[in-house]
Amino acid sequence: MTSSPPVSGPCAYCKVAPAVHRDHVIPKSLQRKYDIPAHLAGTVPACFACNMLKATLRLVPLTWADRLDEINALVSGTPFRVWDGTPATRWVTA
Ligand SMILES: [Zn+2]
Repeated sequence: MTSSPPVSGPCAYCKVAPAVHRDHVIPKSLQRKYDIPAHLAGTVPACFACNMLKATLRLVPLTWADRLDEINALVSGTPFRVWDGTPATRWVTA
């Protein structure tokens, strides 16, 4: 946790609020379970609100939309979805 690089710029999810965290797009528990390759194991800057709302939900930022198929091919269960940071669309199913 303390080895993460400094966070700057806007949140990757809502693209509005300044980022204060680096969010593991794929939660670390899933990375270990499914042997996720490095290019899918990255973090994105996230604001406090988005980080709290997302928690361990299977959501990716818009910038990861092109990786969605690859992620869902690797991880079984509930598919990952693109999330724009708004609470209302968190639960929208594909
Ligand atoms: Zn945000």
